[in-house]
This record gives sequence, C-alpha cells and structure tokens, in this order.
Amino acid sequence: MHQGRRIEVVGTVQGVGFRPWVYRIATELGIRGQVRNDVGGVTVEAFGEPSALDGLVRALQSKPPPAAEIRSLQWEEIPAREADEFVIAPSQPGSGRRVSIPADLATCPACVEEIFDPANRRYRYPFTNCTDCGPRFTIARDAPYDRPVTSMAGFVMCEACQREYDDPKDRRFHAQPNACPRCGPRLRLLDSTGKDLASADPIREVAAALRAANVVAVKGLGGYHLAVDATSSEAVQLLRERKRRDAKPFAVMVRDLREARKLATISEVEGKLLESVERPIVLLPRKRLAPVAPEVAPDNPLIGLMLPYAPLHHLLLAEVDRPLVMTSGNLSDEPIVFQEPEALSRLREVADLFLAHDRPIVTRCDDSVARVVAGAPVLLRRSRGYVPRPIPLARPVARPVLACGAQLKNTFCLAAGDVAVLGPHVGDLDQVEVHRSYEDSIDRMQRFLGCRPEVIAYDLHPDYASTRYALDRPEPVKVAVQHHHAHVASALAEHGLEGPVIGVVFDGTGYGTDGSSWGGEVLVASPGAFQRCATLHPVALAGGERAIREPWRIGLALLLDAYDGDPPGLWNFPAIPEDAGVMVRQALTLGINAPRAHGMGRLFDGIGALVLGIGKSRYEGEVALAWNLAADAGGHGRYPFGIDTRGSVLELDVRPVVRALIEEHLVGVPAGRLAAKFHDTLVHATATLVGLVSDRVGDLPVVLSGGCFQNARLAEGLKAALEPEHQVYLHRQVPPGDGGVALGQVMVADATTRG
Ligand code: ZN
Ligand code: ZN
Ligand code: FE
Repeated sequence: MHQGRRIEVVGTVQGVGFRPWVYRIATELGIRGQVRNDVGGVTVEAFGEPSALDGLVRALQSKPPPAAEIRSLQWEEIPAREADEFVIAPSQPGSGRRVSIPADLATCPACVEEIFDPANRRYRYPFTNCTDCGPRFTIARDAPYDRPVTSMAGFVMCEACQREYDDPKDRRFHAQPNACPRCGPRLRLLDSTGKDLASADPIREVAAALRAANVVAVKGLGGYHLAVDATSSEAVQLLRERKRRDAKPFAVMVRDLREARKLATISEVEGKLLESVERPIVLLPRKRLAPVAPEVAPDNPLIGLMLPYAPLHHLLLAEVDRPLVMTSGNLSDEPIVFQEPEALSRLREVADLFLAHDRPIVTRCDDSVARVVAGAPVLLRRSRGYVPRPIPLARPVARPVLACGAQLKNTFCLAAGDVAVLGPHVGDLDQVEVHRSYEDSIDRMQRFLGCRPEVIAYDLHPDYASTRYALDRPEPVKVAVQHHHAHVASALAEHGLEGPVIGVVFDGTGYGTDGSSWGGEVLVASPGAFQRCATLHPVALAGGERAIREPWRIGLALLLDAYDGDPPGLWNFPAIPEDAGVMVRQALTLGINAPRAHGMGRLFDGIGALVLGIGKSRYEGEVALAWNLAADAGGHGRYPFGIDTRGSVLELDVRPVVRALIEEHLVGVPAGRLAAKFHDTLVHATATLVGLVSDRVGDLPVVLSGGCFQNARLAEGLKAALEPEHQVYLHRQVPPGDGGVALGQVMVADATTRG
C-alpha cells in the first residue's frame, strides 16, 4: 500500500548536509519523492510503504546531522504519486534567504580520519571538509550560501572533487568549500618580513619552530591565531611581551579530550561542549600539576581549553605533540587580524613566522568562549561556530530591527520576522580599528540576511560609540534602551518568555534612567516596560573611569563609607598607595570627581583590592574576577547586611558586610574564607531582595543576567536559593554579559514601537 507524506522541517537545516542526509535515509528505506530547501527550512515529499515513511520521520527526529538543529518537524498526508526515484530538487525561488548561511563547523570525524590516512588522496590536506563540516560563515561573501559567492570561488574543482560534489550519495555532495591537494587552497610559510619561504612542508617546519619557542601566526577559520608552545614559560612570556598583554589568560588548544583531561578536571557536560561542532574555548578548573607554563593564565584556577576545529589544527597539534597557546592574532585589544597585508604589517613584530594560505577569510570571527554553570553550558562570548545561527523569537518582530549593542564586548543584533541573528564578537568599541570592523560587520550581515532595518535600537548611554553610530543611521525610528532592561529582555528572548519577570541584573556599569551608573539591579520587567525595584547601595568612583582600572580607589571609598569616614588602619592595606591615597581620600570626602555607581562588579573590585592587596586591574574586571575565584569551594558563612526600605527603590546596604569582612581580614582570616562568605552573603541578600519584591508584585519567574553571572558560584548559589519558590532562568545561548544585550535591545525596541 503506497502512501504520500509532506514533511516540513524548520531550524538550522540548510548548508549543514541535511538534504543529502535525507536522500541517503530515503534511498535506504526504498522511499521515492524529493527533498528541497524552502523558505525557512527543508521540505520532503515522500512516497512509499507506511512503515518506511514512519521510519523516515523517526530517523529525521532522532539523529539529524551534527550541525543541524531541528526546531520543528511537521508532516501531513498527501495523495500518493508515482515517482521513479528519490531526488534532491532545486531550491524554491526566493527561498530561505534569512536562514541560508550556516555557522562554521568543526572538522568531522570522517574528514579527520582521511587526513591521517596515508592511502587517502586528502592525506595531510589542511583544507579537507564535507557537508558535515568546514568553513561556512567566514568564507561567505553573499547569500544564499553557494560556492560562487564564497572565497572558494577562485578554486576550480578537479574532476575527482567535482564528481563528489555532484553525487548525492557522496558525503561531499554540494559541500561548497570542497577541495583537495590538486585543486584547492595551499599553505604558505612566510617569515616575519612576509617573504615566502617556499617550504615543502610548512606544518612540519612550523611544529619545529614552535618547539623551539618561536611565535607563529597561524591563519585559522575566522582570523589569525598567535601560537606558542604552552609548556614553555619562555615562549609564553615572549608572546606576552610582544603582544603587549600582561596577564589576561591565554586559551590553549589540545589535541583531543584525553589530552585536555591532563590539564583540567572535565565533567561529562564539559567534555561534550569541548567536542561539540561549535568548538568553543571552554573555561575549566585547571589541575594543580597541569603541564602548562604558569604564564598561560597567571594566578588563575581556571584554564581555557579548546580542541582542534580545522584540519590544519589537527595536523599541527599531531605534529607538535604538545598543547599550544592559540590566542587571537592582534595587539592587546585590537580586532583579530584576518587578512594578509594587514596580518603581515600588524603582527610582524609579534610573530617569527606566518603560516598562511590562499583561501581568503571574508568575515572575521573570534573563537567563542563558554563555561558550564549549574550543569549546562553558558556562552560568555558568542562568535565562531554559533554566528550567524538564528535565535528563534516566540513573538515575531513587527518591523525589522537593528540593535547596536553596548560599548564593551560589543555584538549587534538583526531581527526580522521570527528570528534574531546576533553578529560576531566585535570587541571594545573605544578603538578606531574596532569601530571600522563593527560597521563592516553590520553591513555584511544586513546583506546576508537581506534585511533592511526599520527600527534602530541602542543603549541609553550617550557616550557609547554604538549610540553615536545608531544616531547617525538614516532610519527615522530610533529607540534608546536602558542597559539593564536590555539584559533582562535578552534573557526573556532566549527563553521565549513574555514577562513580566523579576530580573536580577548584576554587572559592572550601565547608564540608568536617572543618569547615574547602575549595575546591582532588581527590575520587574517585560519587553515593553520595566520598573526598578531594588538596587545596590552605591559606591563613589574616585576619578571616575580611572577607579575601574585602579580598584584600590573603590576599596578606599568602601572603607570610608562603611566606617563613616574613619576606617581602621587605612594605610595597612597594601593595595592603597599612601601618597595618592591621601588625595583620593580628600576627593572622596569632598565629593569631587567621584560619581556614585551601583554596579555589583564594582563591589567585587573594591573588596578584592582590599583583601587580596591588588590595587590595579590589568584588564577589565581582573580584580573582581580574582575575588570571585579566590573563594574556597567548601567555605560557607554569612555576614550581616541591611535593606533600606524607605525609598520607592529598595537598597541593599552592604556597609555591614564590608565592616564585618574587613574586621575578619584584619585579624588574619584567610582570603579564601572571606570570599566564600562574601558570596554566600550576596546570594542570601539577593534572595531576600527578590522575596521582598515578589511580596509587592506577586510570584514571578526570575531571570539572572549581567556579566556578574559568569561567576558560577554566584549564579549557582542564587539559582539554588530561589528555586524552591521561583522558576529561575539563566542565560544559555546568549552571553549574560554585554555580548548579549543587543538581543534584549531588539525585544524592547520592537515592543515599544509596535503601537
Ligand atoms: Zn567532514
Ligand atoms: Zn580536487
Ligand atoms: Fe551590562
């Protein structure tokens, strides 16, 4: 008995080998009909025995290709039709432009096997890929994603490659970057002056150079890495000096999960994340005797590890046979370098050798960063491997929106219909170079998605470069969005919540509606509106922004505030320099150039400076992070705190915390215990605030957002404390920090302009 079914699959199903995969299953089951790309997904028309059709639907649901993500699968009966075979039909005209460019995919196991197989024609070929793997977003010049509009356009496939490309039974069927040593891109080894060394075996030479403590710039998928031997203090130190990067941890690439386990303690979830097709850098607890140089991540109990994601990495790691530092190819905070003339000019002082190749990178895309919090991954930087994967919206936007993001760790977001697409990590917009890359990236993404924004969303902060960019755009409809409202809305969007919710937003800085700096907030919010219900007692930032780089200033302000201007043994805190301290104290007392800030990150900064004796942050939030990581795993306890209920906004008074903590510090209680108690106290105090807020507004779900929730101890503690009473949502696919606010800006701008 013959039957017909039309199956519609929506999700990330284009450019990820979905159609050939359907083809193979259908053919195996003796099903006839066709599969094609369609607006928003893939449509299958299948004819055959009911049991075979059931089998097809089951297979589609249960084991899609690694990079595919099925959002919905629906089928209906259609009249049975005679068909001779199963075919991959041409795409419907105008189909699926906004879903047509997939994210870059890590090399699949089948391709890895080939490059290590001496009998294979792709043995040691660094540009091997198939429909399940390889570059996508970073080589696309335009949409829909097809070879002629990628940077593979200049390479004409040889006969063997073309045969694979044309054969629906082959796993390279329509693999756009398909290539082999005969017809595809080639490696080139250059010295630091850009001279081609005409090496016969660049990988072997680079491995030897790395073992001899050289710095090598390696062209990857989304840009250049700077690589050094991670086990060599000398090499890592040299890289730090040349890259002008003091202390910020470097990511390390290891050959496989087994090697990773030598360096870090890895749970099952973390192992899966390391091996996922997205291959982010995963922050992991470093083993005490891990065989890497201490300079890789100075004074840091965590280490960022990633596994190879391009054939070149696999080959290089196998050859060099030790962990490699693989850090973004740039100088300090500049954007990652991705094109040759630029790489050679900007990195010539840094790298001894360049491992380059002739497949151009079209769009720069940094490595993504993730960690596991409360048993599941949280993205801290969402870029290569994830971008431009769309985030489905529960409620479609009324008009296309461009959200310009924040200032630091900027990403932008474009939304049209029922999807939002976050752009790649751009970085800190205060640099001209970064700003240029930001504008290019927005232009390109608009083109890829065929999206003309009608609404422009931006941060309320008047001085952000993203704000100026937004105001310069030609579109007439512009919406300024309060920073912490955007944080909450971003969490709403990713969890498909309509609100209202209680949003706990802890971060460093964000412009408040009263012009002051917020960042320790409890809001009741939905995309259309928010109310500020509670905040952290503010601290004065002596010298403004300077206090963020020199947290001893915040520590001093906390002490003066907690002890009414007369703290004990002020000059016994090694972080506070006596001469500058006297002046800053005076400025604080007189209230000169000392704006008050509510940011939770600032509290971490200040206490960390006092207790750990570190006066300066060498990178954004270094001292705050150190204070977080100082906490003893087993330590517990609480300090007293106050809640001021007099105003319309509750205020968490941490002055009692500061006093109790400092008194323990002065009698020699170890920092690890103090930090543990501090975290417990914050968890308890925040849960108390949430309780008071829900007394007023009723029981609502709680979302946790803001950069402070990268802090696993805080996020996990608060989740556990709130969960008996509330449904608690953490960020998962979108960073809790400022890399995620653009999505929230989209939601707010859409909700407030829909009329
Ligand atoms: Zn593959
Ligand atoms: Zn070929
Ligand atoms: Fe923020």
